[in-house]
Amino acid sequence: MLDILYDIHQNSKIGEADAKASAGLRQAERTGERVADLEERLDKMALLNLALWGLLQEKLGVTDEELMRRVEELDLRDGQLDGRIARAPIDCPDCHRPLHQRHRRCLYCGFELRQNGFEAVTR
Ligand SMILES: [Zn+2]
Repeated sequence: MLDILYDIHQNSKIGEADAKASAGLRQAERTGERVADLEERLDKMALLNLALWGLLQEKLGVTDEELMRRVEELDLRDGQLDGRIARAPIDCPDCHRPLHQRHRRCLYCGFELRQNGFEAVTR
């Protein structure tokens, strides 16, 4: 009798594990499709950028140095030369909780930031 109960329990566990494996496989397939879509979009954007850069060089004589200077200027707009446009998350100067990048006012304490996002105005 105990063997039968043990078998039922084990079969239940096997069924649960099988369901989890199937769900994981479906998730991996969806993620793979998403990555393939992003790679395709990235390739198209890279091709478009190369075409635009070629036209700028040919038609306007813009140099690689000018391009790199502009890239650095844009990169430094957030105060950090990190190869990214987005600003690294900052904490509220008042309550020290993370500030949402799209809001000028702290969602927790109401602290308001100036235009550049780094200086305080008032509460
Ligand atoms: Zn705050």
